[in-house]
Amino acid sequence: MAIVLLGKSICPICKNILNEGEDVTGFPHFIANTKDPLYIFTDSGVHTNCFLQQPHALRAMKYADRQHEVFMQKKCTVTGEQITHHREYLALPLLTSDEAEPLFKYNFLTFKIRNIPHWEEREDFVKTAERFIADGKWADLMPEHKFWERIMKYFQ
Ligand SMILES: [Zn+2]
Repeated sequence: MAIVLLGKSICPICKNILNEGEDVTGFPHFIANTKDPLYIFTDSGVHTNCFLQQPHALRAMKYADRQHEVFMQKKCTVTGEQITHHREYLALPLLTSDEAEPLFKYNFLTFKIRNIPHWEEREDFVKTAERFIADGKWADLMPEHKFWERIMKYFQ
């Protein structure tokens, strides 16, 4: 869950400080793409009242919950088997919150790493991601994060 410093952290919805005694809803880290409109919620705390009035926030929470759910299930997309060791486990985060994006269907997929070469959508996924990046729709928070470089080495 987000680290919220009461009296210091800012609510991304109303832009006011989150103060002691206020009801705050926390988001985990669930989006790596700083260009995603829901990125403002990742790893943040928002006033619960602001949260309830902002439809984007409810969507964001739905995605954060989904990420937690797939993490708990740890099921391989390729074979459906349970992944029992963390070193065998690869999880795609929310890649895009835009349902019209072809990349959307690859959100939150989880893999047993050794099964990835047998995934029938592997090439499609790589092409779709490359198009998304080439269209300038992705930006890492820090250049050294190199999100796609780290992910792609498993899929090529
Ligand atoms: Zn607020």
